[in-house]
Amino acid sequence: MEQENVYNLDRNMKVHNFNAGPSVLPNEVLYKASKALIDFEGSGMSILEIGHRTEPFMAVMEEARNLTRELMQLDDDFEVLFLQGGATMQFMQVPMNLLDSGETASYIDTGVWSNKAIKEAKLFGFVDVSASSKEANYNHIPKQYTIATQSKYLHITTNNTIYGTQWNSIPETEVPIVADMSSDILSREMDFNRFALIYAGVQKNMGAAGATMVAVRKSMLGKVSRQIPSILNYKNHIENGSMLNTPPVFAVYITMLTLRWLKGQGGVAAIEQINNKKAALLYDEIDHNPLFRGNVAKEDRSKMNVTFTIDKPELEEEFLKFCKKEDIVGIKGHRLSGGFRASLYNALPLESVEVMVEAMKFFSLKKA
Ligand SMILES: *Cc1c(COP(=O)(O)O)cnc(C)c1O
Repeated sequence: MEQENVYNLDRNMKVHNFNAGPSVLPNEVLYKASKALIDFEGSGMSILEIGHRTEPFMAVMEEARNLTRELMQLDDDFEVLFLQGGATMQFMQVPMNLLDSGETASYIDTGVWSNKAIKEAKLFGFVDVSASSKEANYNHIPKQYTIATQSKYLHITTNNTIYGTQWNSIPETEVPIVADMSSDILSREMDFNRFALIYAGVQKNMGAAGATMVAVRKSMLGKVSRQIPSILNYKNHIENGSMLNTPPVFAVYITMLTLRWLKGQGGVAAIEQINNKKAALLYDEIDHNPLFRGNVAKEDRSKMNVTFTIDKPELEEEFLKFCKKEDIVGIKGHRLSGGFRASLYNALPLESVEVMVEAMKFFSLKKA
């Protein structure tokens, strides 16, 4: 019954949403959230009107944390938290909790977001930038680097949302690895237990803006000598079950629904198959269509954010207009890398990519 209503959302269902973030969410999630916004589980109150320490909301938070743990198959040393401040706050919260002054952390610079993380870490200790692809405008993932063994951790950005590159394998190192997975969290199978800390603003691939997922190993904490303000101390959040203060209730609720949806799809392994199909379809068109061109190293191409350019720059605006007419939205490239960017997050249907590819073929023939 409810399953049918899911497709009864009061909006233009034809839109193909390639936004980079915030971005597309499953219809099922939006449908359920819209109901909960009015009346949460028959309580006569909106999800926005109940206390965060009430039984029903505590259950939402628990489920969100447990589903994250389950979908990522995290071992018992990990704690999953939903915090505020975005991935951007993690740029400083990570070194504040893990890096003592005088100590060194290694960072690999693969773009704007890595850079911001590096800048914040320098406020707390020494930063060794082990490798950078800056000189090549971040069009690849560095392959040659050595991580200093005395480093407290190595920080990587697994997917570079702006440039369209992605780490295909986890670096081989004994040093604990910290990863910003904001734009590819839960999009592919990975041994998440190889990491010491994983963070992600949830608004790209696992929920709505306002919450940040942090999965942290308890064994990493309590080692720095500095005083950490209560709200910034991971330990306090763990001890309080991610309820140290009022959490972003609606963002956590949307995240819980998105995680339920993902589990219903068959989990990370199943969504990865679909994500691979979507990316292959679009890259194949980019590689075969004479008008378009990929702009990053093939072996490092992101399956989440596909960046490309048009060979005749004078046609760029026209193509964007054409896409708009075809209900394809969000494909204008980031101002730093130009061209186009199509974000293929978990909730984007394969059909949207098919429509996009058709539009590219049609436009190209028209201009030939
Ligand atoms: C979007 C993004 C961020 C910034 O996230 P906020 O939640 O806005 O702070 C950081 N890192 C990556 C990889 C991103 O894609």
